[in-house]
Amino acid sequence: MRKVIYPGTFDPVTNGHIDIVMRAIDLFDEVVVTVAKNPSKTSLFTVEERVEMLNVSLKNMEGVFVDSFDGLVVDHAREIGAVGIIRGLRAVSDFEYEFQMALMNRKLNDDLRTIFLMPHEKYTYLNSTIIRNLAQFKGDISDFVPPIVVAKLKQKFPG
Ligand code: ADP
Repeated sequence: MRKVIYPGTFDPVTNGHIDIVMRAIDLFDEVVVTVAKNPSKTSLFTVEERVEMLNVSLKNMEGVFVDSFDGLVVDHAREIGAVGIIRGLRAVSDFEYEFQMALMNRKLNDDLRTIFLMPHEKYTYLNSTIIRNLAQFKGDISDFVPPIVVAKLKQKFPG
């Protein structure tokens, strides 16, 4: 049983994140998508809302689970018995930060592998910040996020 952890802020989940989950579950028996409770980042959605949107968006995917964690990714990965950390790489701009984090996580736990997956090209320019901005100014986001996220963003930015 090979389990991996896919950590992130997911504020909110996008089709790019879901693309990565689909690629990960093709390779591993279990993928735990885990929402980071990161107090240094101000988020639009609460952790509970982010977990709910992920649960609804991923509910038909066998072997995929959602949780949240407080603290270091490596500690949470050890707690749940994950063998690796999944991260998405969109462009060269992601590389430096991801490289630093992967090396630091390796230093903290040498048994844990970081696995980078690339999404479909159509998601390479997509991130949660763009989605939040588009939604705020009533742009059409329906091609980029699951229906539950469209609905939740409408509630956040009514009118
Ligand atoms: P974090 O704050 O940890 O970067 P995010 O929710 O922004 O959290 O992203 C979580 C992971 O998903 C990161 O590895 C990020 O590179 C990846 N990711 C984000 N958006 C996309 C996308 N459109 N396509 C593929 N991977 C993505």
